[in-house]
Amino acid sequence: MAEEKKSTRKKIQASDLMNRVMEDYFRDLDGAAAGGRKVAWCTSVGPAELLRAMGFAVYFPENHAAMLGAARMSTDLIPVANAAGYSPDICSYLTSDIGAFLKGITPLARAYKGIESVPRPDVLVYNTNQCRDVQDWMAWYSGKLGVPSIGVASPRSVHEVTDAHVDGVRRQIEALVPTLEEISGNRLDMDRLRETVSLSRECTELWRRVLETAAAAPSPLTFFDGTIHMGPAVVLRGTREAIGYYEILLAELEGRVRDGVGAVEGESVRIYWEGMPVWGRLRQHSELFSALGAAVLASTYCSSWIFTALDARDPFRSMAKAYLDLFIVRSDAYKETYIKGMLEKFRIDGIVYHDAKTCPNNSNNRYGMPRRLEAETGVPALVVSGDLNDLRCVSDEQTRTNVEAFIEQITEGR
Ligand code: SF4
Repeated sequence: MAEEKKSTRKKIQASDLMNRVMEDYFRDLDGAAAGGRKVAWCTSVGPAELLRAMGFAVYFPENHAAMLGAARMSTDLIPVANAAGYSPDICSYLTSDIGAFLKGITPLARAYKGIESVPRPDVLVYNTNQCRDVQDWMAWYSGKLGVPSIGVASPRSVHEVTDAHVDGVRRQIEALVPTLEEISGNRLDMDRLRETVSLSRECTELWRRVLETAAAAPSPLTFFDGTIHMGPAVVLRGTREAIGYYEILLAELEGRVRDGVGAVEGESVRIYWEGMPVWGRLRQHSELFSALGAAVLASTYCSSWIFTALDARDPFRSMAKAYLDLFIVRSDAYKETYIKGMLEKFRIDGIVYHDAKTCPNNSNNRYGMPRRLEAETGVPALVVSGDLNDLRCVSDEQTRTNVEAFIEQITEGR
């Protein structure tokens, strides 16, 4: 058995600033209606740039669901949505969030004094590039609150993103504009859209550079840091606030690289995380790996907010392409090539696949990928069963035993 020692990851100094940036974002949302601004709810890779450019305050239900998971509130809320007809086998973001709404509770009220509820939407906007669940999720709120749900039906399992794919999605995004103009009362200003797309692209570039600092050995940040520090990239893309934050975070991490400071003391094993985090176990998983000298330092998940195709010169088309280029939209053959590139870039010793019970879309272990990639690259794989939010699907003891044996297998094989 690998010897265990007490170890935690090194705190990122920019965390306090990030907390303030996130608080400002939620307070702004909370005051949006009182200030005469319309609120759009948007799925994680919905057309946030368009909504922002049209003056909407933009709220992301998946971010709220992740907060429910991280606050370990979900497991009690999922059964409430199950009782309303939503299966325990479907997305536990959806069931936690709907359960929270039905119970009238939100982690925002705990975190930010004075905020009592999530902001009431004027419109719900989805993109099915990640899964069908997001459309069903918005449909439920549409029925409950009597607000329109509009969006994009995206192709899935795309191998090569072609002009036909891009133009199909572009037309769908453009078709949203008349409804959004009517609801917002604002005409779309193309210059403002270009500027928002440009800011979003800048945010993406900074976030990519933040994540790529992990190519250094030792790595200055871990996947567990990334899941927290991606907050501004998720909810504030297209704003100057997100850019300002990532400039500061990047400078800190580059300083760590220059000084040879690792996030995990005594880093000896480098791990890639494939799949969703287990939000209610971030700290435990971070401690489990770091106590074994293993840095989980790169992931598909945190890299999913890198939209390199965004281009202010052609905002609609580039948004369509950026949303289609995403890993989750692509074929297994594309995904395997992508992961192989990540293994090389980050000099990875092993991959952990999280088989999330309620999210097949982010569980890439189910159709033979771990075996194929291991055979091709020689990088060993471990599959950990769990879930993003439903902690009833998580076995802590089994995870610990399997991770310990996996890290031991890697170190003994040297
Ligand atoms: S991708 Fe998975 S976690 Fe995200 S909304 Fe869809 S089913 Fe839920």
